[in-house]
Amino acid sequence: MIPNQFSYVRAESIDEAIRLLHESNGEGKLLAGGHSLIPLMKFRLTTPSTLIDIGHLSELRGVRKAENRLVIGALTTHREVHSHPLVQEHLPVLAKAAGQIGDLQVRNRGTIGGNLAHADPAADLPAVALALDAMLEIQGEDGAEIASVDGFFLGPLVTALPDTSILTSVSFLIPPAHAKSTYLKYAHPASGYAVVGVCAIAAKDPDGAVEFIRIAINGVADVAYHCVAVEQKLQGQLPTEETIREAALLAAEDGEIGSDHFASEEYRRHLCSVYTERALRDLLL
Ligand SMILES: Cc1cc2nc3c(=O)[nH]c(=O)nc-3n(C[C@H](O)[C@H](O)[C@H](O)COP(=O)(O)OP(=O)(O)OC[C@H]3O[C@@H](n4cnc5c(N)ncnc54)[C@H](O)[C@@H]3O)c2cc1C
Repeated sequence: MIPNQFSYVRAESIDEAIRLLHESNGEGKLLAGGHSLIPLMKFRLTTPSTLIDIGHLSELRGVRKAENRLVIGALTTHREVHSHPLVQEHLPVLAKAAGQIGDLQVRNRGTIGGNLAHADPAADLPAVALALDAMLEIQGEDGAEIASVDGFFLGPLVTALPDTSILTSVSFLIPPAHAKSTYLKYAHPASGYAVVGVCAIAAKDPDGAVEFIRIAINGVADVAYHCVAVEQKLQGQLPTEETIREAALLAAEDGEIGSDHFASEEYRRHLCSVYTERALRDLLL
C-alpha cells in the first residue's frame, strides 16, 4: 500500500499542465481529486514518475447553460454536480447518479472529469454521459477540440484521451422538458461501485407512444455501453407491461458482458434486464 517514488508539480494553468505532460514523456499523470489515481498508485497498478496537480484550477470548475446543453467543468466535484440548481432542474438524472457515488468524502473530492477520464467500468457517470449524448472538450498541444463520448471509452481504464491532453469540460444534452429520467444502480455490497447501473431517459408523445428514449448501462461490461437494441424496440411503440419486458430482455445485447468472482456473466445479463425493466416501468407506465 505504499506507492513508488514520484515527483509532484502544481500546475498554475491548463497550458502549464499540458507542457508538463509533454515533458514527462508519457510518464506523468494529472491529479484531480485523487480518489481513483492514488489508490491505484498505492497498489502499484500505476507508477507515474510525476503527478501534475490541476486540482486547484478554478477555470475548470462550475456549471453553466449553453442553449440546449449544460456545460460542466472537469474539476466540478460529484457533490457540486449533485447539488447544483441547474443540474437538478435540467439534468436530474445526472444529479441522482452523482449523489450515489461512493460516500460523502468521495463526493467532496472526486471530480466529474476524473470519473470519466479514469474510465472505470463500474463507475456511475459513464452511462449517464452516454445517455445524455455528452460532448467532451479536450485541450492539448494543438489547441482545443470537442469529441463525442461515443467511442471515448476503449476498455477498462483506457480512453481515447491523448497522453498530453486535458479534459476541460463535459457538456450534456438537456432532454425534452416532458421527458422522465432515472438512474438505477445495484451497488456492490463491499465497494459501492455499480455491479449494474442503468441510466434511462424517455418521453411519450400526446398519443402515449415513445418519442424519445435513451438508455445506457455501466458495471456489467468492460466499458459502459449504449443500449441501441432496447431503444429501437421501444421507439414509436405504445409502452405496455409486455413491450417493456420484451425490450428489457435486449439490455445486454450491445455490451460485451463479463464475469468476475462476484457476479457471473449469466447473473450480469439477468441484472441488466431486471434493472432496465424497472427503469422503463418507472418512466413509461
Ligand atoms: C472509496 C471510494 C468509493 C468510490 N465509489 C465510487 C462509486 O460508487 N461510483 C463511481 O463512479 N466512482 C466511485 N469512486 C471513484 C470516484 O468517483 C473518483 O473520484 C473518480 O472516479 C475519479 O475522479 P478524481 O477527480 O478523484 O480523479 P483522479 O483520481 O485524480 O484521477 C483519475 C484519473 O483520471 C485522470 N484525470 C483526472 N482528471 C482529468 C482531466 N481533467 N483530464 C484528463 N485526465 C484526468 C488522472 O490522470 C487519472 O488517471 C470511488 C472512489 C473511492 C476512493
